[in-house]
Amino acid sequence: MTFHVLAAMFGHETNVFSRIPTTRRNFEDSIFLRDDAVLPRLGATSTEFSGLAEAAAEFGWSVRTPLAAWATPGGRVEEDTFDTCAGIIADACRDALARGQLDGILLFLHGAMSTTGHDDAEGRLLTRLREVVPAGVPIAVTLDLHANVTPEMCRGADILCAYRTYPHIDQAETARRAAGLLHRAMRREISPRLMLARAPTLTGLDDGRTTAEGPMTAALRMADAAEASGDGGVLCVSLQAGFIHSVLPEAGPSVVLTCDGEQPDQAAIADRFVRHIWDTRAYNSCTFLSPQEAMERVAARRAAPIDGPIVVADYSDNPGGGAYGDATRLLEAVLAADIGRCAYGTLYDPEAVRTLWPVPEGETATLAIGGKIDPAFGPPLTVTGTVVRKTDGTFVGGGPRWKGVRMNFGDTVVFRVGAVDILICSKRVQCTEIETFTHAGIAPAALDVVVVKSMQHFRAAFAPLASEILVVDAGALCSETRRPPGAPGTVEAARP
Ligand SMILES: [Zn+2]
Repeated sequence: MTFHVLAAMFGHETNVFSRIPTTRRNFEDSIFLRDDAVLPRLGATSTEFSGLAEAAAEFGWSVRTPLAAWATPGGRVEEDTFDTCAGIIADACRDALARGQLDGILLFLHGAMSTTGHDDAEGRLLTRLREVVPAGVPIAVTLDLHANVTPEMCRGADILCAYRTYPHIDQAETARRAAGLLHRAMRREISPRLMLARAPTLTGLDDGRTTAEGPMTAALRMADAAEASGDGGVLCVSLQAGFIHSVLPEAGPSVVLTCDGEQPDQAAIADRFVRHIWDTRAYNSCTFLSPQEAMERVAARRAAPIDGPIVVADYSDNPGGGAYGDATRLLEAVLAADIGRCAYGTLYDPEAVRTLWPVPEGETATLAIGGKIDPAFGPPLTVTGTVVRKTDGTFVGGGPRWKGVRMNFGDTVVFRVGAVDILICSKRVQCTEIETFTHAGIAPAALDVVVVKSMQHFRAAFAPLASEILVVDAGALCSETRRPPGAPGTVEAARP
């Protein structure tokens, strides 16, 4: 029997404290594809759609893909944009039902989307779909592991699987896992039901990091053991570290069990995870440095020969957490220090790009860069430099995070101030791919220092070439300084 599966992506991590609303244009700048355009563009990438393509081939599914929409994290999604995207998915469900071609639904969501009208956007989406789709049609959902899972989301879905890596490099594998369970549900081999449990904390599971041993990696081993045992009919243990830049009462770490039917020991299994989350809630594997401390460490390291660049992460100004990407405190420290050849990726400043665009390559200019959205995170810096190169800011990601996906930083200028090549771009995008630099003629491996505006995702591509990684909290929108003090971490050597 051929099953008809409707699969759609609608993903946004909403930082409700951002001043920048998220519009349809923001989705179109990143991913906004309809129907037959989806699988040709995304079916062979690191996204969930390659997992879908594999599952469809293995199970012989007939697949319909009404929408793939994903935007850089930012402020609340405008209600009109949410309605448009939710409406596309709901209408496609209605149409498929009318044709007798809807056996299951596979949704690729983030789990921390808020709109201008609703804090729990995914809960609202799933409720809306359930009004259209009968209970006998299973809905499987994949989530980012920074999802804030709510009871409403769990009422709307039957199967829920979050990523198990941070940096998130298992989107396809996660989709594959959810698809396998969906197939069994459509065959009526299992009767999936969800159990949600939370610990009363906003932070925990080491923010979901899987690049250092800690609470998340320990929890994932517990999850593997729970799934392997079959106790309580547990089919999938989904662990979410949560996303703190939210006003949802449910924001924070959670566990969701997808179980086959209802069994008495399921609550006790969920409780083991809740206790683990609670007991380890203060642990943080990152050591956060101030910009000045980071520059002192770079200077000290450079006194001895080093093998590969020192990678400095501007954690608190990460567009991937909804920060503005134009904070200047770290940039100011980098420009004031003598740290050798450096590239800085990226500084979001469309106004500066417009000013520099008419300047011929090789010519100098003086202007104020950065610090325009909220100068509290560092004022605009007036600098004199040379326009080295201009690009349209588009390239295909080499991965692992966004392998095969078209990236779009908008018009971009490489502006050299002293020995620092600053990539000034026109769109807010997290720096996760090596190609962010190489597309503009910069080879990161040949530099002394590489600065990236990213919290953790940069590690997937940059850790292999880094001699050392330093994480800076310069007090921008995604600052961690509000966190309770955790266990002392260490400055990690990426390549011992
Ligand atoms: Zn995430």
